[in-house]
Amino acid sequence: MSAPFDLEKNRVKGEVIRRGARRVLVQLPEGLRSKAFQIASVIEEAGALAIVSADPCYGACDLALEETRSLSADLLIHFGHSESGYFSLGGDVPIIYVEAKAIVNVSDVVEKSLEHLRGWSKIGLATTVQHAHSMDEAVKVLENAGKRIYVGREPSLKYPGQVLGCDYRNCKSISSMVDAFLFIGSGLFHAIGVFLATMKPTIAADPFTGNVIRVDDFAKVIINRRWMDICEASRAKRWGVIVGLKSGQQNLELALKLKGDLEVSGRRAILLSMREITPDTLRNFTEIEAYVNTACPRISLYETRLFDKPVLIPKEVYVALGKMSWEEYLRSGLL
Ligand code: SF4
Repeated sequence: MSAPFDLEKNRVKGEVIRRGARRVLVQLPEGLRSKAFQIASVIEEAGALAIVSADPCYGACDLALEETRSLSADLLIHFGHSESGYFSLGGDVPIIYVEAKAIVNVSDVVEKSLEHLRGWSKIGLATTVQHAHSMDEAVKVLENAGKRIYVGREPSLKYPGQVLGCDYRNCKSISSMVDAFLFIGSGLFHAIGVFLATMKPTIAADPFTGNVIRVDDFAKVIINRRWMDICEASRAKRWGVIVGLKSGQQNLELALKLKGDLEVSGRRAILLSMREITPDTLRNFTEIEAYVNTACPRISLYETRLFDKPVLIPKEVYVALGKMSWEEYLRSGLL
């Protein structure tokens, strides 16, 4: 069976040859790792050595720049995400992005979503880079059904309506104009993010499975959990301020501000740097009672149950310190 994603093998081969690359580091998201041999073969046919990074990679925030340098590779090929002005770019490391566009028709699942969108006339559309090329197809189906469609166009995101796990500006910019959002893509993660960012009813339509589901209740479980974590953190005297080391997740300035604000409020805080934020990494910091995570918000919002101590996102610190109300926090959107 052919891959349901366009791996752009001809472009990859052509670029390796054109650039005269001799050693190429490849980054693959989990969903494309079964294609590692196919991709390595394309690179080797172009005359270069392929090295596939087996470290986790969840976004364009995590370019393997250090690894490319330390392996003396002359090209990094990053699959599954688009180039983004939101994250730092490669600097001296040449990078090719292969977005892995989904090869799937979205009309059927959008048609199916109409039943869930009954009662709403103004619909915001959101998607990931894999389906961004299918937005026009989706708009056509929805407009034919009499819906008025809104698509955010944030200039620093590559595609209209595109969302990242930590960037929903395309949805926030149109949120006040729409009754509900339709997210087109796989899984619930990004669709829940649309709700958390906008607090608008959100329907997820998966073109691969044909499943259509309203995600509001899943998102509300996360919101309840945030409340519990913030309450627990409000009692903490000793805090760890996490500084991410991944290329697009490092935010030392924000971490320093949070440390200062915590100390002004009578708490102690230390900075902790790390690449992967996991329960094991944090477990032995036994004196620390709460963390604030300035790296990927996904860990605080979706994986918080795995941790022994609360791991807040930055603005939640201000709720915990009594400087922002819970209602104001919700109004601003969690993301
Ligand atoms: S949600 Fe996290 S992993 Fe995804 S792009 Fe943002 S920082 Fe990276």
